[in-house]
Amino acid sequence: MSTLADNLAAVRTRIEQAAQAAGRDPGGVALLAVSKTWPAADVAALAELGQREFAENKVQELVAKAEELGHLDLRWHLVGQLQRNKATAVVGAGAVVQSVDRVSLVERLAGVAERAEVVTEVFVQVDLGGPEGEAAARGGVAPEHAVELADAVAGHPSLRLRGLMAVAPRGGPPRPAFDRLAVLATRVRADHPEAGELSAGMSADLEDAVAAGATVVRVGTALFGSRPLASGSGP
Ligand SMILES: *Cc1c(COP(=O)(O)O)cnc(C)c1O
Repeated sequence: MSTLADNLAAVRTRIEQAAQAAGRDPGGVALLAVSKTWPAADVAALAELGQREFAENKVQELVAKAEELGHLDLRWHLVGQLQRNKATAVVGAGAVVQSVDRVSLVERLAGVAERAEVVTEVFVQVDLGGPEGEAAARGGVAPEHAVELADAVAGHPSLRLRGLMAVAPRGGPPRPAFDRLAVLATRVRADHPEAGELSAGMSADLEDAVAAGATVVRVGTALFGSRPLASGSGP
């Protein structure tokens, strides 16, 4: 418990200092706690410390934790790839889907949300490149198609476009990639002023993301500790 509290305080300080260094209001950067692989008890402990927004990269794990912790009034985000046949589960959990990367998924989510009579919040995930084969594993629409995918989301009343999400490419400096993402976000915002969010930055690179304009940073390891290798694969 004390370790979680210390970690949370340290991450908040990093966000504050990064915002100040960039001349930004620290209140304009939200912390999303990525709890993948960690038990619901750890989520509950962090919630006790005031954290309300949590993310998972697998639908099954998200749904299980959301159910177990349903009394805590938490907000869940999916940040991993979503198969169309899991759309019902993720919409049913009331989750924000940050990993929307193709038109077929947009249409599926919109249909499911419409039938459930809910509005599902989504981010368009952009592929910022990286080593061959990595993009496929992480997901994300090619940058040149991000604006049209955002348009497709905005065309559905049962979806609410919140902005763009991305993971920095491995094995290169994150800042130029985040800057490219920010340029895209500006273009999306020009047509969809309500889509003002930029979800970028993780434990290793949140300062770079905040400098580039991130409004949401997604932090796992710096809060909960290192994930065991086998289950912690992926970004
Ligand atoms: C796991 C994950 C994170 C958190 O990564 P850490 O390095 O543990 O902070 C952020 N975003 C996505 C998409 C993830 O899969």
